Amino acid sequence: MPLTSDQLCGVGLFGGTFDPVHIGHLRTALELKNLLALAEMRLMPSARPPHRVLPQASPKQRMAMLKLGLAGEPGLVADDRELRRDGPSYTVDSLIELRHEIGPEVPLCLCIGMDALLTINQWHRWRDLTDFAHIVVAARPGWHLPESGEVLNFVEDHRLHQTRELQTTPAGGLLIREMTLLPVSATGIRQALQRGESIRYLVPDDIIDYINQHQLY
Ligand code: ATP
Repeated sequence: MPLTSDQLCGVGLFGGTFDPVHIGHLRTALELKNLLALAEMRLMPSARPPHRVLPQASPKQRMAMLKLGLAGEPGLVADDRELRRDGPSYTVDSLIELRHEIGPEVPLCLCIGMDALLTINQWHRWRDLTDFAHIVVAARPGWHLPESGEVLNFVEDHRLHQTRELQTTPAGGLLIREMTLLPVSATGIRQALQRGESIRYLVPDDIIDYINQHQLY
């Protein structure tokens, strides 16, 4: 049964490089927003991702493409806090800021892929993330948790099994949801462009126009 508007609650945060944002990100963000009955889902580009090579498009260009992708979908919001902050883009700092803005009671859901969960123990202050938010993991069918180690212990310490449990507490839980993720990646899109191939239907048309106008990738 769909939730009514007064049952909608909570804020989601979906971080990424978004170099460029594509239908895999957009569709997952929308599905998670609906699944978790969030009032809004914030998509937050990382300025200086600590664990990977620097993005090719500038922060301003990645944000411009993200805004084009989100146009017309009011529940999905571009969040530029990491682009405004100096230094490495640590997710925990963004959660602390956002928690301060929304107050202590509102559920906050940090949405990540299973690939990110498997290396979450490399993130800055990773054990503190659940002090400020729930963690919602989008898993592809066939992706597995590690069989042992500190990530598995962390999952077991925080794991919830019902979506409703996230809606009644502000932070501290971890929920894994299997989703059919579209087989699209920003790496694949950049490679297709370098080979001169079409990326039509992999990213919204307005973003393709922006990439062409600014001669990106
Ligand atoms: P790249 O290929 O440059 O690494 P990417 O396409 O994987 O980029 P990111 O910006 O690095 O995208 O990822 C941001 C978030 O989006 C991560 O949590 C990642 O798991 C998730 N994600 C990436 N691709 C998809 C997809 N096709 N469907 C759903 N989620 C995705």
